Amino acid sequence: MEKTILVTGGAGYIGSITVRRLLEEGYNVIVLDNLSRGHIESVPAGVEFIEGDIADEEKVESLLKKYSISSVIHFAAYAYVGESVENPSLYFENNIKKGLIFLEILKRNNIKKIIFSSSCATYGIPESIPITEKEKQKPINPYGLTKLLFEKALQSYDESFGLKYVIVRYFNAAGAAYGIGEDHQPETHLIPLVFQVALGKAEYMQINGVDYPTEDGTCVRDYIHVLDLAEAHLLALEYLENGGVSEEFNLGLGKGYSVRQIIDLCQEITSHPIPIKISKRRTGDPAYLVASAEKIKKELGWQAKYAMKDMIQSAWDWHRGDVLLEMKSVEKGKK
Ligand code: UDP
Repeated sequence: MEKTILVTGGAGYIGSITVRRLLEEGYNVIVLDNLSRGHIESVPAGVEFIEGDIADEEKVESLLKKYSISSVIHFAAYAYVGESVENPSLYFENNIKKGLIFLEILKRNNIKKIIFSSSCATYGIPESIPITEKEKQKPINPYGLTKLLFEKALQSYDESFGLKYVIVRYFNAAGAAYGIGEDHQPETHLIPLVFQVALGKAEYMQINGVDYPTEDGTCVRDYIHVLDLAEAHLLALEYLENGGVSEEFNLGLGKGYSVRQIIDLCQEITSHPIPIKISKRRTGDPAYLVASAEKIKKELGWQAKYAMKDMIQSAWDWHRGDVLLEMKSVEKGKK
């Protein structure tokens, strides 16, 4: 019989693309999302959609009783470093407090397998590059701290109750697929913001600090195509479904790109000049975050299919497509 997977945050950018891949692989999918940051239009047909909070005990209890859930993929969380620095309580409330309530409901209902979206932000300023899973986790912003605390809760639940988990520590997700792209309100992520300039929606791109100890002074990040991320979740799911023990994996291309390099690539792909304004550092930004993805390659057989240019090109196509649609509707309105 087909297995049923509960996906929290399945209306979000990474969640909704993973949901599509799960459907393609023949899983039954239930999406639980409170739509605080996701989009209902991103949830595909063929999925049972439940609008609700992960901490809504009544709702989660009743869905767990109604469906026989085999594994959970837990995406639902807030994910802006800057916002977490400005408003830490939002992150403690949503990512930790609600997360812990959810975990306890899973335990009560004897759900024993979970995949958790964690982050390279749990490492803080790494001592060695590329970052392996053995690196000490010392987050330097509340977002990273909330992800780390939830990781620790999973470890305790494994020791105490035999919960099996796969923690996937993402580096920077990018790109578009299935007509879904990165669209956060407000947008704070680098690539979508550069496109706003290319599309004439913003005048310039602000670089958050040029005095980092990197080659060109701007922060270096490791980007990964959202489809490669989705694939890693499928492999992790298969692994847990086949009785795998709890594991932690980093997920990135293993290649670093500076903010300036990303802006240059966007300029090249969009053929639009991107004026730049240099600003001060954003609190909570480590200078250099590059993954070692050797462990997930070796243990789950994961392999990235997409390069940096594929991510920028697919994201640009998606953003431009949106603009074309907007233009069409404006024209329609004129008639
Ligand atoms: N960044 C920037 N200008 C912006 C947005 C982001 O210089 O308008 C920088 C940001 O400070 C970080 C990098 O781009 O060094 C990636 O930031 P993003 O928010 O996309 O992802 P994060 O690494 O914080 O998850």
